[in-house]
Amino acid sequence: MDEHFDVIIIGSGAGGGTLALRLAPSGKRILILERGGHLAREKPNWDPAEVFVKNRYVSRDTWYDQAGRPFQPGVHYFVGGATKMYGAALFRLRQGDFTAHRTPDGQTPDWPIRYETLEPYYTRAEKLYQVHGRRGDDPTDPPASAPYPFPPVSHEPRVQELADGLKRAGYHPAYAPTGIMLNEADMPKSACIRCDTCDGFPCLVHAKGDAEVIAVRPALEYPNVTLLTNAHVQKLATSASGREITNVVVERNGQHEEYRGGVVVVSAGAANSARLLLMSANDKHPRGLANGSDQVGRNYMFHNAIALVALAKRENPTVFQKTLSINDFYWRAPDYEFPLGNIQMLGKSKGPMFQEDAPKFAPGFTLDRMARHAVDFWLTGEDLPLPQNRVTLNSKGEIQLHYQFTNLEPVKRLRQKLQCMLEHLDLHPHLIPNNVYLGKQIPIAGVGHQSGTCRFGTDPNTSVLDVNCNLYVVDTSFFPSIGAVNPSLTAIANALRIGDHLLQRLK
Ligand SMILES: Cc1cc2nc3c(=O)[nH]c(=O)nc-3n(C[C@H](O)[C@H](O)[C@H](O)COP(=O)(O)OP(=O)(O)OC[C@H]3O[C@@H](n4cnc5c(N)ncnc54)[C@H](O)[C@@H]3O)c2cc1C
Ligand code: SF4
Repeated sequence: MDEHFDVIIIGSGAGGGTLALRLAPSGKRILILERGGHLAREKPNWDPAEVFVKNRYVSRDTWYDQAGRPFQPGVHYFVGGATKMYGAALFRLRQGDFTAHRTPDGQTPDWPIRYETLEPYYTRAEKLYQVHGRRGDDPTDPPASAPYPFPPVSHEPRVQELADGLKRAGYHPAYAPTGIMLNEADMPKSACIRCDTCDGFPCLVHAKGDAEVIAVRPALEYPNVTLLTNAHVQKLATSASGREITNVVVERNGQHEEYRGGVVVVSAGAANSARLLLMSANDKHPRGLANGSDQVGRNYMFHNAIALVALAKRENPTVFQKTLSINDFYWRAPDYEFPLGNIQMLGKSKGPMFQEDAPKFAPGFTLDRMARHAVDFWLTGEDLPLPQNRVTLNSKGEIQLHYQFTNLEPVKRLRQKLQCMLEHLDLHPHLIPNNVYLGKQIPIAGVGHQSGTCRFGTDPNTSVLDVNCNLYVVDTSFFPSIGAVNPSLTAIANALRIGDHLLQRLK
């Protein structure tokens, strides 16, 4: 098939899927090229052993670290991208994340736009992805032009106790903004059943606000939108002058195919978007497409994240646990002048998830018993965009990820703060004395929050994209800095922003 489309979108995740839906009503011919297939709806969707031990939905891919050692990244090549597995915690970046600020290991860059520019798109993104939340509890909440479209997902009793205890101690626990189709006022009519296998699992009943359900499927209802699955884009070919992309080169089911598009939008996820641009090097662009600045692939970020499990003396019967967020230390602490980051709950752990780490921490306990007593947290600190933290390609065109950690001190302190808070609440005394917290720093294979490899900016020497993203990259690779909250809502909001721009351009 060699056909011409008005817009070709490469990748159908948070960025690409959302953009496809935004453009669909225009009547323009839109082609979505997605490397993966549809994630099967099957009982193992909700089986912790299948999902966490057998990695049933982790796509086969091998990346290499800076020493050339292979590892399997936690990637999910499906229609809907990584959002098929995400926890749907849909936070706005904080207002101050858009301006340069000091962190212990260096200064973050200024964004070329301010929060106010993205605000209307955040509001639209929250409506589209059905975000449940309540404004005003979190002192770092940025100003918003509308309330959340849905009420917050309620805390179950154990989490409510925690929230009450934190409030009594002077903290500001808030409801985590969550994109699930839950109708607590009328559960018989609710698509979401409020189950215990959400964060890190696909949703068997399609009630999670993921990009496939919210964006790609509705976009495909328009006759002008086409989705090709198992369509792995290999390269973007340019005209002889090198000024425009003429062909998108695809391997689909083992066959070589080429497509032509008036506008080509790359949204393959931060690492793969960089890979594609680097793979597209030619005589006119010897370092890769859009890489005159030598910035493509650089400034890779993925957050400093720790999964922390507190083992409480009492059992924790919570089913849907990811309802609470604490940002009291987002910007600083009384004893620390730099930003520490965000604390939120994780989905409730299950026995099999502890297989790797538990025995040495809790000898004699069965994994299931540990899980019954676990209260699970996710701590996120901001890592810095360093030019040397980058995606390069090896001689076979495979991804090599060079990454050196930055800003580890804040997230270490955040962990201490949380432990201190918990010890003054009812999680004390613990089931096992002293080191009862299973804390796991997420290694580089945990690429869920990857971003920053094609950053936008006003200075062509330090950025890949200008403010209007003339290259049209709409995944998380455009982030100049990552903040310390989950990235998807910002990618979604930006895709809506680029969508508006493209609708004008295509008129
Ligand atoms: C377990 C887990 C939990 C998470 N929880 C949260 C959360 O609670 N909140 C949050 O905000 N974020 C969360 N995230 C992160 C979130 O999912 C990502 O930030 C988001 O999906 C990024 O969107 P994207 O468009 O940049 O990339 P993706 O959504 O990954 O989409 C990229 C798409 O491009 C496709 N692709 C790649 N290469 C090619 C190619 N060469 N040709 C064609 N197609 C290609 C991929 O298959 C994929 O579908 C989580 C991630 C994981 C893994
Ligand atoms: S909690 Fe709701 S949205 Fe999440 S997996 Fe269960 S049914 Fe789906």
